[in-house]
Amino acid sequence: MRIGVYVCHCGRNIAGTVNVAAVVEFARNLPHVAVAKEYRYVCSDPGQQIISDDIAEFGLDKVVIASCSPSMHQNTFMNNVQKAGLNPYCLDRANIRENCSWVHSNMTEATEKAKLLVAAAVAKVILAEPLEVKEVSVTPAALVIGGGIAGIQAALDIGDAGFKVYLVEREPDLGGHVAQLYKTFPSLEETEQLLQSRMERIKEHPNIEVLTSSEVTGMEGYIGNFKVTVKQDGVDRELEIGTMVVATGYDTFDASLKPEFGYGVYPNVITGLELERLASPSGPTGGKIEIDGKGPANVVFIQCVGSRDKSVGVEYCSRVCCMYTAKQASYIKDKLPEARVTVCYIDIRAFGKGCEEFYEKVQREKVIYRRGNVSEVYKRGDKLVVRAEDTLLGETFEEEADLVVLATGMRPARDAALLGKMLHISSGADGFFLEAHPKLGPVETTTDGIFLAGCAVGPKDITDSISQGHAAAVKASIPLFLGRVSKEPLVAHIDEEVCAGCGLCESSCEFGALVLDTRRKVMTVNEALCRGCGACSALCPSGANQLRNTTEKQVFDMIEALL
Ligand SMILES: Cc1cc2nc3c(=O)[nH]c(=O)nc-3n(C[C@H](O)[C@H](O)[C@H](O)COP(=O)(O)OP(=O)(O)OC[C@H]3O[C@@H](n4cnc5c(N)ncnc54)[C@H](O)[C@@H]3O)c2cc1C
Repeated sequence: MRIGVYVCHCGRNIAGTVNVAAVVEFARNLPHVAVAKEYRYVCSDPGQQIISDDIAEFGLDKVVIASCSPSMHQNTFMNNVQKAGLNPYCLDRANIRENCSWVHSNMTEATEKAKLLVAAAVAKVILAEPLEVKEVSVTPAALVIGGGIAGIQAALDIGDAGFKVYLVEREPDLGGHVAQLYKTFPSLEETEQLLQSRMERIKEHPNIEVLTSSEVTGMEGYIGNFKVTVKQDGVDRELEIGTMVVATGYDTFDASLKPEFGYGVYPNVITGLELERLASPSGPTGGKIEIDGKGPANVVFIQCVGSRDKSVGVEYCSRVCCMYTAKQASYIKDKLPEARVTVCYIDIRAFGKGCEEFYEKVQREKVIYRRGNVSEVYKRGDKLVVRAEDTLLGETFEEEADLVVLATGMRPARDAALLGKMLHISSGADGFFLEAHPKLGPVETTTDGIFLAGCAVGPKDITDSISQGHAAAVKASIPLFLGRVSKEPLVAHIDEEVCAGCGLCESSCEFGALVLDTRRKVMTVNEALCRGCGACSALCPSGANQLRNTTEKQVFDMIEALL
């Protein structure tokens, strides 16, 4: 066996903390290592060339790259060694950046740790087997969950690409939150116009089947061959699809969790979404903004209700509230020009195209912006009083109001956690679905074949939600176009000679990949369903169930190298 070890500087990312030359010297003396080299950026073209040249020159059959996390550049490295004639599963990585140089400052200690990580990777790769990628066919249909603007866009694009799409929406109508808005910032275009054309196209589209009042209640299978159970009006239906887009959007923050603002106590304290309905001609008042039959003379908006507020467990910014408040202030000025309109804000975030200009225009319409934290809303006589601190003037002030509007932020859709569990997709600490990579994979999940769009991933405006709908549709259509997808061979494997058929591992599999053959009394693995998580192998008492290329022996050899 001849192993090549390549240690990356990653500029100063690694070399600033780890003595790379010392790690290379150490690696040269590890068992089976035929060559060890360092390079400034191993992921660069010249870096890759060094590896492929060495595979030919030194007759390498295994390679270890000590660099960044395997979640970075793994495909690049695997493709490179494969082109040079090596099985790509005979490559392993030692993460000496995220697990070492980025978390240590002492060079001597970091260098010693990097050596051990390289030794462990070499110990593991010694027993790595060459594996073959399998291909599976793809059912040429997609599912979109959530019929808001992001889901509608994704369904239209996949349908336009020529594939059957099922659009599942739990409410009786499509449109999501956009259907509840009067106009959109910053153009003040009526949302009805914006949605209408898309709704009509959906209705007439030959490839799109809309299932309203429906919810996904079960999912099994894998990319290319998902089987999804949808409950519609009490009649379960099973759909066979190749890929899916999750566009389940958001819920607004429950304003009663901030009792100091009097929501639910005073009828003239309302949320931004409720103001949208009041202002809309299709709303309950036909578009008239009235309190007790007359237009409010004083309107106060309170921003960041359930955003950037650790006291209610919401640290993030909801991104749209500054601009929707500016838009709603302009509704008031348009419908009630004499009204006094005050906005209590923390900071104004007007980052979208045309948004800063719109915010300035609203200020010119004599909307008063006061930078301050609101401490309470209380009643004095027949008026509400908003008590706040003006942080620019350094003084408290009180503003009388006939109407108080709370700019509530965005929370994950109410059953997002349940849906995530069912689909095997992860959520972040904020409860929104987690993208595979915030920059490189913004609409992908870590589950192949399942993509994300819109506010299901986190707060965003309509423009960004539609853009993600387009992006997720493209990603979901690629496997449908290809008709076949590759399946990772790093899966569980049963040694039937050793397996006692105890069945213990079967229940540990979240994906239904393990089935006990009761006649032969051995466990069997459906490799197409297995995601290679290793939960079943860890549980196996006899060692019959092993994860390919992360076997028990490999793990013990790594531990020995580390110790
Ligand atoms: C008061 C207010 C005003 C706003 N004004 C503007 C504005 O002027 N301009 C702007 O750009 N943005 C505005 N926004 C933001 C805008 O609402 C969002 O950008 C947009 O709604 C995101 O669309 P979406 O499809 O991702 O989510 P949503 O609109 O939330 O749609 C998600 C859909 O998925 C459905 N769903 C959820 N879970 C399931 C499930 N398990 N199964 C089936 N279906 C499910 C929901 O019923 C819903 O129909 C505003 C937001 C608020 C709160």
